[in-house]
Amino acid sequence: MRDLALLPKAHLHLHFTGSMRPGTLAELAAAHRVRLPSALLDDDPLHVPADERGWFRFQRLYDAARACVRGEADMRRIVAEAVADDAAEGSGRLEMQVDPTSYAPFVGGITPALEIVLDAAREAGARHGVSVGVVVAASRMRHPLEARTLARLAARYAGDGQGEVVGFGLSNDERRGETAAFAPAFAIARRAGLASVPHGGELLGPGHVEDVLGHLHPDRLGHGVRAGEDPRVLERVVASGVALEVCPASNVSLGVYDDARHVPLRALVAAGATVALGADDPLLFRSRLLAQYETARTVHGFSDDELAGLARASIRASRASADVRARLLAGVDAWLATPERVPTA
Ligand SMILES: [Zn+2]
Repeated sequence: MRDLALLPKAHLHLHFTGSMRPGTLAELAAAHRVRLPSALLDDDPLHVPADERGWFRFQRLYDAARACVRGEADMRRIVAEAVADDAAEGSGRLEMQVDPTSYAPFVGGITPALEIVLDAAREAGARHGVSVGVVVAASRMRHPLEARTLARLAARYAGDGQGEVVGFGLSNDERRGETAAFAPAFAIARRAGLASVPHGGELLGPGHVEDVLGHLHPDRLGHGVRAGEDPRVLERVVASGVALEVCPASNVSLGVYDDARHVPLRALVAAGATVALGADDPLLFRSRLLAQYETARTVHGFSDDELAGLARASIRASRASADVRARLLAGVDAWLATPERVPTA
């Protein structure tokens, strides 16, 4: 068994607010005199049913955490710590999602909000030796015209260099909003060369995956785990080369599967899908990137060869520059070439 923290990998599904360390949230809440719900302060991962009530509870906690982020210093700290934590877990490439709308009121608009995140990403990336890209994500809960505004903003900062925008996403409750209404925003992003990385197929089944495939032409799907419930849909995902950002801890916390054993990780990989493991919202799920790889090893029985395969898939599905991808892929080969550690009793 080789050390998974040393396996180079790319982290393609991590939300800005959801990346926060619990201790940081507590400090920000104290500094801004915000009273946090106790569920955000205890050590237990969130566990809700996969229905509207469960989502509402998740959203309420998420909003409470977001309300503690009140300006540039807080924003910079969150990015810096997310990059540091990723680096410690062997991530050489992080693509972090942010909806700048939420922080705009504190810093004078969505443009400065995004620029602060990009600048902090450049700084932290350089300090920790992590290549960092940003995904601008619109929300299904808001008007599709707002998504277009965000897509235009994202397009202005497009690039594969350190601290540039690499993709455009769509998040929040899959049951809300009409997927087709967001197509024009994704078209703007695509024309600017951005990857299309909407959420889909976590809370809703294969029908939703088809809806997203048809209207938003994703390069990657946030989650997409439930595509496997219809072999025809999974085949379409595989044939079109759409990568799945699979976040096992998130699936269990949000009640999509009652146990990590039931996350169809093996079935998806066996069907030929490109799977990139991600942490989604470690603040609420109390589980970071490395833990997802550990789940693949301990719960799903992935061998070191197979774990290296997952890492390679994440790197190839990333929007890192060709030289960064080549360097990380070489690192995966080097990891596999190291002798296995014999477990000590
Ligand atoms: Zn997500």
